[in-house]
Amino acid sequence: MDPVEALRRVAYLLERERGETYRVKAYRTAAKALEELGPDVVAARAAAGTLTDVAGVGPKTAAVAAEALAGGTPAYVVELEGHAAPDDDLDDDARALLALIRGDCHTHSDWSDGGSPPLEMARACAELGHEWTVLTDHSPRLTVARGLTRERLEAQLDLVDRINSELAPFRYLTGIEVDILEDGRLDQDDDLLARLDVVVASVHSKLRAPSEAMTRRMLTAIANPHVDVLGHCTGRLVVGRGRPESEFESDLVIEACRQFDVALEINSRPERLDPPRRILRDAVDAGILLAIDTDAHAPGQLEWQGYGAARAVECGADPARIVTTWTADDLLAWTQG
Ligand SMILES: [Zn+2]
Ligand SMILES: [Zn+2]
Repeated sequence: MDPVEALRRVAYLLERERGETYRVKAYRTAAKALEELGPDVVAARAAAGTLTDVAGVGPKTAAVAAEALAGGTPAYVVELEGHAAPDDDLDDDARALLALIRGDCHTHSDWSDGGSPPLEMARACAELGHEWTVLTDHSPRLTVARGLTRERLEAQLDLVDRINSELAPFRYLTGIEVDILEDGRLDQDDDLLARLDVVVASVHSKLRAPSEAMTRRMLTAIANPHVDVLGHCTGRLVVGRGRPESEFESDLVIEACRQFDVALEINSRPERLDPPRRILRDAVDAGILLAIDTDAHAPGQLEWQGYGAARAVECGADPARIVTTWTADDLLAWTQG
């Protein structure tokens, strides 16, 4: 096993099982440090026992690299591969739906609050067998997440172009997770939103607003012609201290999604699992479009789609109405229509 690959695999497996961020970071940082040194220097340093002198490499990461260089699969990789995987508990129906999924409408990179560069995210998507994935970093106002200014988003579009030429036939689609501002407007320029393949719109602030204000805010966003997907609609968190759902008229939101051809996201993150089943069942009954997304902030989290697929099956969703089962061409015909 290549030492850089081994370190990245450890990070990936830790991300997949929701490992501590600092631990993931240690492995990603060490992988990057060794990649920059090049294989010859890494081998020489491993032989001399001086890998830990490299900035960003500690005893544990050096041990993984050394074991990989020695020719075997490092013990830590073997251990983590043996842990439970997100798909282990899926029933046959959820597995069947997961097998139909071709893409993911909601992923982040280290350009905003993700942990890995776009190229690594795109590669991981391609390795998972996805045909396409949308890169949706945050918008300017979400400063805690290093939301992208207009200029940075434009620069990212050029990068996505280059990644596409490298990874074809896999398609990395351009996008944004744009903040829905308090008055329902979107936190990015119209002309730029028009250029993007997919626009996911989400509420990230004033989650405790009264129902009437929140409903008006969401309806205004859904009616915006640039919006394709409504992200994690209730904003709830179901892990740790948790966060209650935002209050809004979900019937009106579902009706607006139907009217304006917007997909309601099934957010697969284990701490979100948003929307709750009762809203998802109503959405399925209304026959609106759905998107099973990971909202992945790291490569290993791209495997979480099974959690969303399980909920979709549980609530009786029709795979044909789930846009993440569509081909990239069908998806783009829809978002650009
Ligand atoms: Zn979000
Ligand atoms: Zn997100």
